[in-house]
Amino acid sequence: MTAASVAHADLEHDGQIEPAIDYLQIDGAQQNSLTPEDALNLPGWQTLNGESPNFGYTEAPVWLRFSPPISSSEMHQILDIRYPQLDSVKIYLFRDGKLIDELITGDRMPLKPRPLRHPHFLLPYTVDPGSSYQFVVRVQTNGALQVPITLWQRDRFFDHTSAVDQAHAIYYGILITVIFFNLFVFAALREATYLYYALSTLGYLVMLSTLRGMAFVYIWPGSPWLQNQSMMVSVPFALLFSSLFARAFLDLKHSSPALDRWVRVSVYLNLAAIAGTFILDYNTSMRLSVALAIPGCLLLTLLGPIEWLKGNRQAGLYTLAWGALTIGSALTALNKYGVVPTNFVTEFGMEIGSALEAILLSIALAARLYRERSDKMAAQEAQLQALAARRKAELRMMDQALHHPLTGLPNRSSFELHLQDTLTRKPDKRHAVGVIQLTNLQAITKTLGHQNADQVLKLAARRFNVICRDLPGIQIVEHSETRSFFVAALESATFGFVIDAEEVKAMPRRVVQCLEAIRKPIEYLGMQLPLDPLAGISVYPDHATDINTLIRQAYIALESEDSAERGLAYYKPEADSYNTGRLTLVSELREALDTNQLALYFQPKLSLSSRNVVGAEALIRWPGKATPISAEEIISVAEQTGLIKPLTRWVLEQALKARDKLIAAGYNDLSISVNISPNNLREPEFPLFVQRLMTSYHQHAGKIILEVTETSMMQDPVNSLRALRSLDFTGIPLSIDDFGSGYSSLSYIKRLPASEIKIDRSLISDLEFQADDRVIVKTTINMCHDLGYTVVAEGVEDESTLRLLREMNCDMVQGYVMTPPLPFDDFVRWLANQAQQEQRRA
Ligand code: C2E
Ligand code: MG
Ligand code: MG
Repeated sequence: MTAASVAHADLEHDGQIEPAIDYLQIDGAQQNSLTPEDALNLPGWQTLNGESPNFGYTEAPVWLRFSPPISSSEMHQILDIRYPQLDSVKIYLFRDGKLIDELITGDRMPLKPRPLRHPHFLLPYTVDPGSSYQFVVRVQTNGALQVPITLWQRDRFFDHTSAVDQAHAIYYGILITVIFFNLFVFAALREATYLYYALSTLGYLVMLSTLRGMAFVYIWPGSPWLQNQSMMVSVPFALLFSSLFARAFLDLKHSSPALDRWVRVSVYLNLAAIAGTFILDYNTSMRLSVALAIPGCLLLTLLGPIEWLKGNRQAGLYTLAWGALTIGSALTALNKYGVVPTNFVTEFGMEIGSALEAILLSIALAARLYRERSDKMAAQEAQLQALAARRKAELRMMDQALHHPLTGLPNRSSFELHLQDTLTRKPDKRHAVGVIQLTNLQAITKTLGHQNADQVLKLAARRFNVICRDLPGIQIVEHSETRSFFVAALESATFGFVIDAEEVKAMPRRVVQCLEAIRKPIEYLGMQLPLDPLAGISVYPDHATDINTLIRQAYIALESEDSAERGLAYYKPEADSYNTGRLTLVSELREALDTNQLALYFQPKLSLSSRNVVGAEALIRWPGKATPISAEEIISVAEQTGLIKPLTRWVLEQALKARDKLIAAGYNDLSISVNISPNNLREPEFPLFVQRLMTSYHQHAGKIILEVTETSMMQDPVNSLRALRSLDFTGIPLSIDDFGSGYSSLSYIKRLPASEIKIDRSLISDLEFQADDRVIVKTTINMCHDLGYTVVAEGVEDESTLRLLREMNCDMVQGYVMTPPLPFDDFVRWLANQAQQEQRRA
């Protein structure tokens, strides 16, 4: 009764008491059929001295008996057995020795028969102060047999339960949030770490909700089997994924391969334990799980600090998180064994610890996510920057690849691209491709040094660009916001441009002006430096249709004699020693020379005063040639290949032989004129050769006249003059050919030791109709007479011109009016014929 009153007072105080309990442990076969009355009557009941009943691992049933407190104010009470893992629980309530209520339950049975939906085994009852009450409880279980019993004042119980439920709700809420959060992150990033973490948290959630019986009550109330399975699986499941998570999160594979090996072992063992739950019985399986869980948890707990000490960035929060879980679990365990007093923190230590762990690790994961994202963004930015830098470098390289380094003008590649583009865009137009070369730049370099020459070249480039801008029909080679280029630098002293050929043709004055501007010397350091630019032009599609050939042809034109004379020349196929036809021509000509296939034709020279043929001009021919080839072309090829030297010697010898024959035929006084190339004049030994030849053919002295064109001498006036003087010195008459076709000054001509001037065909052919020409020819004749020259008019084709020339006092004529050039034999016949006519006339 004393115990009852104490209990009563306790119940009054905080609504709950732990009753004083007697227990009876029996074994043997009888126990299964034992009724509670039988048990009460058995001897051997012992008293538990205020301890919570804990009988360890025993499969034998235990009987307990105790009395509820009797109170008039607290009649409605609840018996609460707080350990939900008991297999079989039978509760009997006696009033005044009579059984009034019983509850047969246990965690191997569905929840159904229990009067209250709660994880604990509960029995509500009512006490009546007039009676005496006694509980008899039979408990049997396969696991640890603990029977913590509380008797509650009913209202207080519901208050307490609702507080605990709230705490649980918060806990489960946190865990579920963490799980979903990490699952979402996993779905977005496809990174296993987040999945492992979500699953490990799920493991704890299931483990604790199973342990606390919540899952059984709310999720699978009808399936005790599931409850057991969940008990067995949730622990190794949680550990399995915690280990996988720790590996991934701490990047153990790289940061600590030795620890990683241990964690992997733990992973395999827990996997085995999960598999084991389906094969092994409950007890063995549970013991295996717990046996594995202890070193597994220890390992996971130690990982944090070890990695932290090693400087692993992730390890800090990990350590804190696992620390929270460890401390929480330890508090609960210590509370279970009575080492620390019961309060909210100690009782729910595991929940608090694991919730803290979940939150801390979620923060750690989020921090990691943030860091990785910002790392990635930084990396992306760096990549973009690198890309931009590369693009810039590429552009710069491209710019360099397309521009001449010194002048900054577009270079040859750029020019070719532009030209190709122009031709493709406007294939129906005529385009002129021009090339300008500064022939004096080398001399400037040698005089002033490379640095100064570079500066001059830059100035020239700038000036040419400005000048060419004003050329009618000029095409822009390159155009950008900051600059426009009209010329390109093909080589360091060579520039290229493209012009609409028709437009240029329409405005010849502008072209001349531009050419003059280009020719002006450059002012540099107070000096006027002549650049001596030469220009060559080829025309699309007249000369070629591909850019390579067009540029090549412009170069050929630039190097031609015409260009040397006038500063500008159009491409002439016949003067192109480099065209492929020409190449074969060279070898053919060499062979023709060697095998005497060439021939000399003769054109008479008539004296207008005596009306006699006084001489003949020897002109080269190539009779055997399948495709006719002009004398000019033969000479041009010979000049460009060095064949001119043997050719001139051959011509001279042939002329001498021909004159021998003429003498033999009775034409003793006829002179023979031989054309000499300017190249011959440049040979130092040429005068000597002629001199020797004339000595061995002394009978022809004074009757072999050498013709040199006016323009050819202009190319190298000094040397030409020297050569002519030495020829003159040996008594060879000289004639200035093609006079009036170039621009040579009379003052220069005056110095030449010539005796004859041949007025160019171009001035004679239209004499009858061109008053200007008549004035020029008349003046020339007079002037030449004044200077002591004999004057020959070339290319006289008709009688009226002949008459005009006679009126102008011209000395001699040559031309088709008498006969075109003839082979020697024909010429001799013609001479005979002519003589007969004269005789007849006389
Ligand atoms: P060139 O010395 O002025 O020769 C006169 C040219 O005028 C010759 O052309 C001749 O056939 C041509 N001709 C003569 N009368 C008339 C005429 O009434 N009307 C027209 N339309 N043409 C006439 P060819 O023989 O074709 O020679 C051309 C040039 O080739 C020569 O001009 C001369 O500079 C050069 N040449 C010819 N043979 C030789 C040679 O053996 N050695 C050198 N170095 N040059 C030669
Ligand atoms: Mg001639
Ligand atoms: Mg001539």
